[in-house]
Amino acid sequence: MEAVPFIGIDRHRLGVDGVGVTTLAAFHGCPLRCRYCLNRRCLEPAEGLVRYTPQELYDRVGVDNLYFIATGGGVCFGGGEPLLRVDFLEEFKALCGRGWNLTAETSLQVERESVVRAAEVVGDFIVDIKEGNAAIYKAYTGGDAARAWGNLEWLLGRMGAEHVLVRVPLIPDFNTEADCDATAKRLEAMGVTRIDRFGYRVMSDE
Ligand code: SF4
Repeated sequence: MEAVPFIGIDRHRLGVDGVGVTTLAAFHGCPLRCRYCLNRRCLEPAEGLVRYTPQELYDRVGVDNLYFIATGGGVCFGGGEPLLRVDFLEEFKALCGRGWNLTAETSLQVERESVVRAAEVVGDFIVDIKEGNAAIYKAYTGGDAARAWGNLEWLLGRMGAEHVLVRVPLIPDFNTEADCDATAKRLEAMGVTRIDRFGYRVMSDE
């Protein structure tokens, strides 16, 4: 497999993106265009970014093998959208085996086949569902809410609610607390038990 671009690698994360000590590996590239995207580098041309094959990334993050094994941690793949790189995830899992837990931080704004394949190798998902109202979702991300929600429903059935954390942000000028309440209610009705509600802080030049 060819090396693919990353916008960053961040070691020794504890309790922020998965079980135990994790290293965050953030892929370049995302199908959405969120108005307040914090990772704009992943939406710009990939020139100048560091690139890794699965073997090269495995060799690099393996320096923390003992931390991963001792804490039940591993690698969290974010971005950008890691489920656009499911070939990479599969090859990486074949290298690291069961000793490392893989987590994916995803909007689920991908083809169902990518979710199905990712569920074979990823132990825990952090789903950035953003909003339940399709018009608000479209206005904020440019994407189709039905695809993300359909994938979430499938994922819950496949993984079980304990392995799926869903993020529900309050997005200034786009949704309200009442919208977030409605999104959380809809998630609970689907069987989601782990919901992370928070508010975006928008910088003054936005
Ligand atoms: S899904 Fe994430 S990376 Fe993609 S545009 Fe939205 S905030 Fe940015």
